Amino acid sequence: MAAAEVGDDVLERDPTMERLECKVAEMLGKDAALWTPTGCMSNLISLMMHLKRGDRFLAPASAHVLGSELGTAAWLAGGMPEPLAWDGGPGRPTPEQVVKAAGGQGPYYSLRTTLLCLENTHNFAGGSCLGAASYKALVEAARGKGLKVHLDGARVWHAAVATGDSLASLCWGADTVSVCLSKGLGAPMGSLLAGSRAVVEEARRIRKMLGGGVRQGGVVAAAGLVALDYIPHLAQDHAKASALADGLISLGFKATKPETNILIVPVPKASEAVAKLESIGIRCLTVGSALRFIAHRDLATTDITDAIERIKPIADSIVS
Ligand SMILES: *Cc1c(COP(=O)(O)O)cnc(C)c1O
Repeated sequence: MAAAEVGDDVLERDPTMERLECKVAEMLGKDAALWTPTGCMSNLISLMMHLKRGDRFLAPASAHVLGSELGTAAWLAGGMPEPLAWDGGPGRPTPEQVVKAAGGQGPYYSLRTTLLCLENTHNFAGGSCLGAASYKALVEAARGKGLKVHLDGARVWHAAVATGDSLASLCWGADTVSVCLSKGLGAPMGSLLAGSRAVVEEARRIRKMLGGGVRQGGVVAAAGLVALDYIPHLAQDHAKASALADGLISLGFKATKPETNILIVPVPKASEAVAKLESIGIRCLTVGSALRFIAHRDLATTDITDAIERIKPIADSIVS
């Protein structure tokens, strides 16, 4: 970061930022990409481009754009949210649901559905993956109904590693894709929005409008380039989450094996459990009435065994 070559990315282009944007666009199979400070901003810019005020958009229930972005999809992008139940498994709607929810043209006074937002992996469904085939079927269903498609791919890297499908196949046909460098990949900040050249050009204007244009961005872009190098190692994080699940199951927890690096564990009193775990040096968050653990690059495999040892004496008090 200290040695990064920088320019002024507001006036022209910062060379390191441009390198990161080109690299990510190529990885995702898109024409261009735009760095944003956060994933929320890159989702918001996408929705602002796709939605007119009052347009309805579809998203899997508990999607980040629905519940975790302060309602900006409605507040700033003007969208009317319609959550889709997980008929296709955790975090996964089916193409039939998309077709049904999209509806038809209808009379002039009917609500218009214009956008499908997908999330891969689905955070609150426990890092569940959409494989390339199911993803493609959803995109085709949306396209068939004339909908645009936005993919919140904050953790699409994890989905690619877990399913063995290429990043390009998991982003295929989406008008916009948002990816995060600052989650499992470990960069201090940064997300990217990828799409066609025209989409990215417009996105650059909206990013500036939202205050997300940065000048000597190469400093953070350099960290983003380093973060991308971690992708081949993500399988280790999936294995850590899986080992944590095994350990917790052996202690009587009702964990199910995670698909990626997110482990959801239902417990009777989630907030109390978080406090108990914090007191022994283990941090997690709640998702509804469950605990959400995340495995990441800064955890060693021995940290997992250590965590299980620490939880052992208090397991019964959390489980029952
Ligand atoms: C974290 C996250 C975001 C938003 O990223 P920020 O950088 O925190 O704004 C968007 N979508 C999903 C699925 C996420 O997990």
